[in-house]
Amino acid sequence: MEEISCRVIQDILPLYVDEVVSSDTKLLVREHLEKCESCRRDAENMRRNIGAADLENFEREQAETLKNLKRSLKQKRIKTAVISVILAVVLASAVYCVLLLPTWYVPYDEEHIKVFEEDGNVYVEYRDIEISGYYSIETEKPSADGDMKTIRIIYFKQNLWSRYVEPLLSKESQVRYCLGEANDLQSVYYGEVPLKRGNGIDSYENAISKVITDSAPIWER
Ligand SMILES: [Zn+2]
Repeated sequence: MEEISCRVIQDILPLYVDEVVSSDTKLLVREHLEKCESCRRDAENMRRNIGAADLENFEREQAETLKNLKRSLKQKRIKTAVISVILAVVLASAVYCVLLLPTWYVPYDEEHIKVFEEDGNVYVEYRDIEISGYYSIETEKPSADGDMKTIRIIYFKQNLWSRYVEPLLSKESQVRYCLGEANDLQSVYYGEVPLKRGNGIDSYENAISKVITDSAPIWER
């Protein structure tokens, strides 16, 4: 077989290194490389470069994969956060509805609810109970001397939160409300009066007079 020139080998070398040549060509090149150091070095350099390029590609692909993974993780995290917020809102609404919305009347109890006069004002004070609402309704009634005097009907309400949760949170509770000037006030009653006048003023007025006639005032001038 005649000698092949280095130039021809140089032309085929890239194909040879990529292993895309026929087996005959491969044999020819191999034979040449065994004899020619210069071409052999070129082939080795080419192989090394291809290896480096492959490595670079591999690293780029890995970086790309990692980036995609991070992106999908981020999206997943956002989705989780949104779902958590929605769940929290739903849960908070449920807790609110159960603990806060149903309220009931707190019956009068002179140990915990006191009405007294101090510095010309009348106060109601309650201690060791937690309430969810305080209601004070004003009405007028002529007194013995013929003047119109103010009567106050007060009452407290509780809900599950104030009854069972708040006592755990606050150790001592003592709250007072001012009911007005003692001179203007004739008496204070404790009793439940519906706050909605929507059912008719009659039922509201009836409830007020029912409290006044059915119970004794808890404070009187
Ligand atoms: Zn050569």
